[in-house]
Amino acid sequence: MNKINWNFNNTYFNLSKSFKEDINPIPVENPQLILFNTELATSLDLDFSKVSTKELSKIFSGNLLPEGSNSIAQAYAGHQFGHFTMLGDGRAVLIGEHTTKSNKKYDIQFKGSGKTAFSRNGDGRAALGPMLREYIISEAMNALKIPTTRSLAVVKTGEDIIREKNLQGAILTRVASSHIRVGTFQYIAARQKDDELKTLLNYTIKRHYPEIINSENKVLELLKLLLNKQCSLVVNWMRVGFVHGVMNTDNMTVSGETIDYGPCAFMDTYDPKTVFSSIDQMGRYAYCNQPVITKWNLARFAECLIPLIDKDEKKAVKIASQVIDSFEKIYEDKWINMMREKLGIFNSDGRDKYLILDLLTWMHKKKADYTNTFCHLMKFDFHKNNIFMDNEFIDWKKRWLTRLSNEERLPEKSLEIMRKANPLIIPRNHKVEEALLAAEENDLEPIKNLLKVLNTPYTNTNNISNYQLSSNSNEKYVTYCGT
Ligand code: AMP
Ligand code: MG
Repeated sequence: MNKINWNFNNTYFNLSKSFKEDINPIPVENPQLILFNTELATSLDLDFSKVSTKELSKIFSGNLLPEGSNSIAQAYAGHQFGHFTMLGDGRAVLIGEHTTKSNKKYDIQFKGSGKTAFSRNGDGRAALGPMLREYIISEAMNALKIPTTRSLAVVKTGEDIIREKNLQGAILTRVASSHIRVGTFQYIAARQKDDELKTLLNYTIKRHYPEIINSENKVLELLKLLLNKQCSLVVNWMRVGFVHGVMNTDNMTVSGETIDYGPCAFMDTYDPKTVFSSIDQMGRYAYCNQPVITKWNLARFAECLIPLIDKDEKKAVKIASQVIDSFEKIYEDKWINMMREKLGIFNSDGRDKYLILDLLTWMHKKKADYTNTFCHLMKFDFHKNNIFMDNEFIDWKKRWLTRLSNEERLPEKSLEIMRKANPLIIPRNHKVEEALLAAEENDLEPIKNLLKVLNTPYTNTNNISNYQLSSNSNEKYVTYCGT
């Protein structure tokens, strides 16, 4: 398999037993390749052009392990809906870390690959629908220029898995700059062994934040860097109307990439309380709560670092709290600047906040489509919508245009930044469902068309009107956990 150019250098595998279990993926009966991401493979300097579909199916099911791989299941813990649990890869294995020619390292992980020591009562398997869903949404997020894990392949296993009804089993190959989570720190911190915690800290810094390796106070630097990264990430989610759905601490990376696309979805009509997940009855992870939860998760991360911040616990807590308390101001600044970009505004004016909030309030009141309202402002209306004839909106628009006329830059420049901030296309729920249903029936055309359209969300204006409308159905969209 040398022709593929795998270049494994498995540093996590070399950590002690406390961090992982050494385990191979469990072979499957009849693997069949469903999706393969050639573009991603190429960007990883991998060449599968001489590999047959049959061999690809074997490779991406785990039936044929690449030379140099060392499979492990990673240990981690997590606060799930606020409750702390010891977890770990219960249905995934990391087969290794592939290094590209430009010396970038990527985890190659199989999700749905069979039982591990962390499976608890689960079967270690995943269903086709949720794996395809992760493929679609993660690739859409990447095209939206939002940090995320990627999807390289989906293979059907040829085995049924038992849920409420029998479902087709599948394995997703996930590519990530690492799978270290806030929950990984929680797992190691719970073991109360300072040497292990230091190992994880140094490993994380070396892998993700090498710029602070020699810092005098690298623990605090790491906390600040992650706070900034996660803050930017959640601002990006807010920008495109993304609702993650399960922001448990085990689903928050220390790399700052979006991870674990379970019951996530994009908001159509603007409503801050939007929740899609069937299990989120209290709205803990609703659209508007995502920044608050990000801060909460970061506080859990900070708790893990306490023993390394200062020997005096009280002092350490005080120092860490100061960093966590900086979240609101950093978030608000990033959020308002992001919203300014959505409206084509360059310089800042204290009244911008009111201009922005008044638009959002109007959208909420009139049940306007979040994405399409900004498309309208950019004069990219693919469908006539009388909602924009509303007097209140017309008045708001006048204020906005006056605000833009105060800018020193040309109107074209405003449109330029708006076009970078406002997607014309998001993965509409009904389009995702339509594609998944067809794929379950072996018709891959809708999913391939959808992936193509989602690949250029800011620039493509051809034949996309079909993908721009929200569902006609008045039924509330509900997503289910991908187990
Ligand atoms: P997730 O909902 O994918 O974030 O998973 C939460 C935890 O449950 C992780 O530790 C998973 O490994 C575990 N898990 C989810 N589904 C299964 C399954 N089918 N079998 C074993 N473990 C699972
Ligand atoms: Mg998870």
